Amino acid sequence: MHPVKLGTLQPISYKRKYNSTMFSFTDITQYHQQLKDNNTNCADAVRHYLQKIEEEKILNAFTAVYADEALLQASLLDERRKNGAPLKRLHGVVIAIKDVLCYKDHTITAASKILSGFKSLYTATAVQRLLDEDAIIIGSCNCDEFAMGSTNENSAYGNVLNALDHTKVPGGSSGGSAVAVQARLCMASLGSDTGGSVRQPADFCGILGLKPTYGKISRYGLIAYASSFDQVGIFANSIDDIALLLDIMSGADEYDSTMLLNTPDTVSSEDSTVLQMLESTKYKIAFFKEALHHPSLDEEIKENILSLIESLRSNGHTITEIDFGLLDYVVPAYYVLTTAEASSNLSRYDGIRYGYKTDGAIKDLTDFYKQTRSEGFGKEVQRRIMLGTFVLSSGYYDAYFNKAQQVRKLLVDKTNAVFTEFDAVIMPVSPATAFAIGDKSADPIAMYLADIFTVFANLTGIPGIAVPLFKHSNNMPFGLQIMTKKSDELTLLQLAKLLMDKYRKN
Ligand code: GLN
Repeated sequence: MHPVKLGTLQPISYKRKYNSTMFSFTDITQYHQQLKDNNTNCADAVRHYLQKIEEEKILNAFTAVYADEALLQASLLDERRKNGAPLKRLHGVVIAIKDVLCYKDHTITAASKILSGFKSLYTATAVQRLLDEDAIIIGSCNCDEFAMGSTNENSAYGNVLNALDHTKVPGGSSGGSAVAVQARLCMASLGSDTGGSVRQPADFCGILGLKPTYGKISRYGLIAYASSFDQVGIFANSIDDIALLLDIMSGADEYDSTMLLNTPDTVSSEDSTVLQMLESTKYKIAFFKEALHHPSLDEEIKENILSLIESLRSNGHTITEIDFGLLDYVVPAYYVLTTAEASSNLSRYDGIRYGYKTDGAIKDLTDFYKQTRSEGFGKEVQRRIMLGTFVLSSGYYDAYFNKAQQVRKLLVDKTNAVFTEFDAVIMPVSPATAFAIGDKSADPIAMYLADIFTVFANLTGIPGIAVPLFKHSNNMPFGLQIMTKKSDELTLLQLAKLLMDKYRKN
């Protein structure tokens, strides 16, 4: 029996045969060079990816593929280039977006039945900034419903499969976006990261995944899960590509009042050498004792990270074990706060304004809301709405919501103190490599606890990246997570590049 669990909804059909020519992609700079040398064109690139998407349909990475318009846009770009127009920064770059990012006149589902049939009325700022640089959006990617999950098993469109092993999950919630890059169905993709949804699937799939500083990329047009945690994130196979996309998408936006103002330019990727650190740069890096010695951490992941620490030390970097002391509180604080925010954010899906409406017999308006929401939301989303409503309810508010806010404040203060002494903190991304499909879906608590290493960055607002450095003896990849202080994406990416170039073990 095949492990794909089909959801009740089917992705928009995109079956077609594209006669793609040979096309290979390393990074955006190399692609642009090929275009300038006339060795390829954008239409060939798009045909290549459409063909790959078709061949790898079993992975279920997309909820919609925009084949015709992607091809049309590619031809227009080819035409413009032939006429001598200069290349914009993402000229013909083929990008997939998580199906929680609005793209005007295109379906947006959040992998939920409750949004079935709904089309975006506007385009998310992050997506618009890519389009303004002539990127080609090839499709929307499958994910956990409303970005709630760690395995992509909570999608109304069915599971996404890990391309390296079809019996394994790709991670979540941005599973489709991760697999789209892993299986080379596009050049780069966007996800969203509220508690690890970019870093953890990147880890499970063996690719790079960046969650920027909270407030770096506008959330306008990103479907809200937990607004004080959500950030748009990037999947790619090259640090330079991540830096370029970050540079293009970040920066103030009048539609998002939580944006950071006056932050230093991320990394001007016009000059990618900025990411190449001098050999003489020596980093001061910390790791939390309770993270690397956590009982849930796979032994082999721990051994590999410890041996990486030794090699970094022998090359003159300072790596210090510190007692952070609060790690066991991060998962409870995260799940109290995010479910509280979600219960409020998701109250707008009432069957009147968006998508799905019940057609069952109803007594009155309240009954209509109840039935629509019971039929339209999946089990995990319902669980979180109820949990969030509970922690906000009078009598429990102080015991849960306020307490969790206090924990968040402590975490922020302690984290700021760590970064007065260190350039970066390193941690595993996940306690284990990709889970088997079905392994954790019956036990929500076990699933939540596996978020221990990623939710920390969202609670504190700092940036984090999953860097694919290792391969487990079970043949699955895993990486290392690097975090820096807020707005220090430059150090984050420089260190990630150093590790990719000099310490990669897979
Ligand atoms: N696994 C986490 C959760 O289920 C993270 C989700 C996310 O980052 N969107 O909440």
